[in-house]
Amino acid sequence: MVFEQIKKYGDHEQVVFFHEPSVRLKGIIAIHNTKLGPALGGCRMWPYASEQEALVDVLKLSRGMTYKAAAAGLDQGGGKSVIICDPKKKTPELFKAFGRFIHSLNGAYITAEDVGTSVEDMKYIRESTPFVTGLSKDQGGSGDPSPFTAQSTFMGIKAAVAYKLNKTSLQGLKVAIQGIGHVGVYLAEYLLAEGCQLSICDIYEQRAKDFQQKHPSVEVVHHEKIYDEECDIFSPCALGSIINSKTLGRLKCSIIAGAANNQLDTLDMEDELMKKGILYAPDFVINAGGVISVCVESKGNYSEDKVKNRIANVYNVLKEIFSRSDEEGKNPTDVAIEIANNRIQEKTKH
Ligand code: NAD
Repeated sequence: MVFEQIKKYGDHEQVVFFHEPSVRLKGIIAIHNTKLGPALGGCRMWPYASEQEALVDVLKLSRGMTYKAAAAGLDQGGGKSVIICDPKKKTPELFKAFGRFIHSLNGAYITAEDVGTSVEDMKYIRESTPFVTGLSKDQGGSGDPSPFTAQSTFMGIKAAVAYKLNKTSLQGLKVAIQGIGHVGVYLAEYLLAEGCQLSICDIYEQRAKDFQQKHPSVEVVHHEKIYDEECDIFSPCALGSIINSKTLGRLKCSIIAGAANNQLDTLDMEDELMKKGILYAPDFVINAGGVISVCVESKGNYSEDKVKNRIANVYNVLKEIFSRSDEEGKNPTDVAIEIANNRIQEKTKH
């Protein structure tokens, strides 16, 4: 059963289940591919409904990390971890124990933040292992990666708008953002500064209302209604699989460009989007800002300029993907995967 799933979601090199009942720690680390370097990818803490759901999530997320690092030109492999727990129940002891499991992998996997985990949690992991990045600035790290993820997503939105709408400015465009969490807030602020009109939602509606209080021009919509918003750009910044057979027919946008990982429930969704004339920015390309930052941090001599230059390049990578997608009649994700796989193959030849 487990091996069938591994085969289905990407032939991973290693999948490790860990369990420390004394601190209620239960989770999975998936190392997808280390041909470009040690596997880097965040730790997601989520109250998964089942172990099967957690396994599928970590397998898909870690495969995405391999493509993300390769497409962003990083010498880093792809991995991810999930902890099956409600983030409200986290403790320092749980993260210290998690750090010990990471350490037992001898550097094959390096962790960082993801949904449900924070810079503070990385500090506890660091007490057990050096194989953690995304540490706080006072610990010599680069801090929360979310602003960098928001920056690359913003660059990606600009590339998609230039390509699809033939516009160099975002002024006056309407963007619907799903999820106003760490990344969503920064992205919303960049878009407002550029003159966009925003509608936002969150399952915790108070988060959206708090943002609206600071920025009264923003419209708050119910989280189940966000798919029906008429907009130029729909920007998923919450969880995955939200482009699915139930939501596809409701979308009224020209572009989908957001930070969430694994936005497409199944890969054939992208062909359906193409039929509807919607341009999709592959998630693992557009949301690379965070991994770029933590990767630069893990190599030492962190410099924000280095990170910003690499993030600016997301614009060019996406423009190339969109052009090739048109020329070759393939969907943008297939083109992006090809670019990533070619880079891995090139690198392993030498
Ligand atoms: P977060 O947990 O801070 O924010 C996600 C927000 O989405 C939360 O406020 C949550 O309440 C909300 N949400 C969840 N389900 C929702 C739904 N169905 N409808 C509306 N809102 C919903 O997470 P984040 O760090 O902002 O990350 C957002 C997404 O971007 C995730 O998919 C994550 O994997 C991806 N991502 C994040 C980073 C990063 O640097 N943080 C990097 C790469 C990718």
